[in-house]
Parts: sequence; structure tokens; C-alpha cells
Amino acid sequence: MNIIYLLKTGELNLKGENKSLFEKKLFANIRNQLDDIKVKISGRKGRFFLTPVDDVNEDARAKIEKTLSSVFGLIGYSVARVVGKNMEEINKAVLEIAGHQFKEGLPAPATFKISSRRADKSFKHSSYELSCLLGELILDNFKTLTVNLHNPDFQINVEIRDNAVIYSHVYEAPGGLPSGMAGKGILLLSGGIDSPVAGYMMAKRGCAITALHFETYPYTSEQSKEKVILLAKKLREYLPRMKLFIVPFTEIQIYIKQNCKQEEITLFSRAAMMRIAHIIAEKTNANSIITGEALSQVASQTAENLRFTGSQTTYPLFRPLVGMDKLEIITKAKEMGTYDISVLPYPDCCTVFAPAHPVLKPVFEKITASFNALELDSLIENALEKTEVLKI
Ligand code: ATP
Ligand code: MG
Repeated sequence: MNIIYLLKTGELNLKGENKSLFEKKLFANIRNQLDDIKVKISGRKGRFFLTPVDDVNEDARAKIEKTLSSVFGLIGYSVARVVGKNMEEINKAVLEIAGHQFKEGLPAPATFKISSRRADKSFKHSSYELSCLLGELILDNFKTLTVNLHNPDFQINVEIRDNAVIYSHVYEAPGGLPSGMAGKGILLLSGGIDSPVAGYMMAKRGCAITALHFETYPYTSEQSKEKVILLAKKLREYLPRMKLFIVPFTEIQIYIKQNCKQEEITLFSRAAMMRIAHIIAEKTNANSIITGEALSQVASQTAENLRFTGSQTTYPLFRPLVGMDKLEIITKAKEMGTYDISVLPYPDCCTVFAPAHPVLKPVFEKITASFNALELDSLIENALEKTEVLKI
């Protein structure tokens, strides 16, 4: 018996002439995540078959399944058994799958349905006959099971193609669009809860991600940096590739602190970060910038402050959390697996340099003039030169 995987795509199917480009990208991303596990992917119209080229052991299966449950562009997948096109082998596989349902916690009594498709019309039984035969087989072998065609507890699907392909459960995949189809976004990644979620959400809309972190060593510790690397690695699990830029921000941060009003410190650091993000976007051929800001969550995120920080770039600025409340963001962070890392106690620069009463409603022209008067260009250039680039 061989194992293959049935892949179901979602929003991709709404694409017109470009659909095959989206599919190609999805398959390339899957192959990329699988590294040395070679696979063939075939099929059409939103239903594809992924076939491992060599025999796969437990570890390889686990890696394939992890990849399929985290790759953007798929909405679901099933693990299918491939057996010969004869009733003996089909019966055996169907009985095994039914038996397996009990191991997975199926209650007794329970209901089931068989759904058959005969792509190869030379097969001796029609779809209907095949479903009936297999249904009877299960009823004979499992006394606590009965048939329910409308709302069964489990369904076994049998497809007669070059071989017989038999599968049951559809596992969830995250949906969205393949990473890279929307170009590349520069994600401002702090050590907090929000920005990793923002990165995940935009990656799900097809952005490849380059993460950008500003560190204020020694005001923040080596551990703060390690934490950001861990966050980037978690995010990378959903992406075919990712780089992390670490910009030394201490000099700029201290200069800002010493040369502006206390209440402007946070806002000006955010603006400097945005200016740097803009330059890195230009240098790396990115086409958007992403932050974890949410309206009114903290003082630096009033509409007036967002206008000002946003004015430091002409790239589209994606703030996917803007309308979410903190609890919703936390739920997402837990789902995607970054929450436990984000709540590790090491502070980032905002906490260290935050003033007691930050400005909330600056006048745009005035705040812009004060910020420009700081003349940060040479400090920014210096920081860019010392920027470290990690391949995650
Ligand atoms: P987060 O939980 O993402 O840290 P936050 O609620 O703490 O967000 P702020 O600290 O004001 O909010 O940061 C707003 C956004 O600015 C962050 O979501 C992130 O995109 C960016 N940002 C803040 N600090 C840094 C940093 N040190 N490096 C990179 N980006 C940062
Ligand atoms: Mg933060």
C-alpha cells in the first residue's frame, strides 16, 4: 500500500487566467518546505494529488503533514491509501480505515457513509454498486455502525483511477493565498504579541515576509534578541523562506531621547523605524510595509500618531490588526503558536524608553517639522551599515 495526499485549494479557484500561476507558486512553496522529500504534484480544478517519489517513513510523513497543515493556499488535505483496483485490496483498506475511526475516538454506536467515484469506467462496479458493496462490508464487520447518508459521523471516499484511492478525514489547512504572490512585505517585528500576528495575517494574503527588528542593546538584553529570533522561526514555519534584519537602534534612540520633548520620544522612534523600513523595502525590492499597530491600543496608535508614522513611507502600509481588540489578537497568537514566546519577560526598546505621558494628538505639520529638524539621516545610514541579516 502506498500513501498519497489529496490537496484542496480554496480562494485560488476564484482566480481567472492567473490561476495556474497561483497553483505553481503553491506547489513551489510546498516543495520548498519539504526540503529533501521529493514529491510529484498532479491534478486539476482545485483537487490535486501529492505523491512522494520515494517510500516515506514516519518522520517524512509527519513533515509532509505539518507542511500541508500550515501552507497558505490550501484549505484542506486528506491522507489517502492507494491500493490495486480489485475488491480484495479495496475491502481490506476500507475495513482498516473504518477500524481506525475507533482508535481516533469514534463513539459507539456511530454512523458512516461511503462515497465512490469511478473515473475509470472500465472498472466492473458502478459507483453506486461499489458504495453498496462496501457499505454492507462495514455493516457486517462493525455491529455498532449504521449508515447515515446525510450527516454521518465519518465518511469513506473511494476513487477508482489508475489505482483505487481511499481516504476519509479532511484535515484543515489555513487557506489564504500562496506566499509570494503579493510580493514581499517588510514586517516590523518587535518582541510583542501583535507584530507576529500581523505578519501571519499578511503572509496569508500572499505576502512573502522579510522581518525587521530594531534592537537597543545594552538597554535590552541578548535574550530580547533571541526571543525575536524565536518569533521569526515560528513565523517561518508558515513560509517557504524568510530573512530577519536586525538594526542597531540604540544610538538613534538615545539621540531622539536627548533632542526632543519627552512626550515625543515614542512617536519619533516609531517614525525613525518607519523611515528605515522604507529604505530597506527599497533596497530589498519589497512592495509593502507591515506593522502590528491597532487603533487606540497604546498612546502611539491614535489616528493622529498613525498618520504621522505612516507619513514616513510611501509604500502601502499594512496594519492588519487595526480593527482588532487585544483579546482577539491574543487568540490568534495562540492559534499560530507565537503567544508563549511573546510573553517571555524580556523587554523591547519601547518599554525601556517610553515616556510617562506620550503625545496623543499632535498637529501633523508641527510634529513633522520637529521630527525633520532632528536630521537623523546620518545616524540612520550608520545603523543601516551595521545591520545584521539572518537567514531564518
Ligand atoms: P507588539 O505587541 O507587536 O510589540 P505593541 O502593542 O507593543 O506591539 P508598539 O510597541 O507600540 O505596540 O509597537 C507598534 C508596532 O511597531 C509593532 O507592532 C511593530 O510592528 C513595531 N515595532 C515596535 N517596536 C519594534 C521593534 N523594536 N522592532 C521592530 N518593530 C517594532
Ligand atoms: Mg511592542
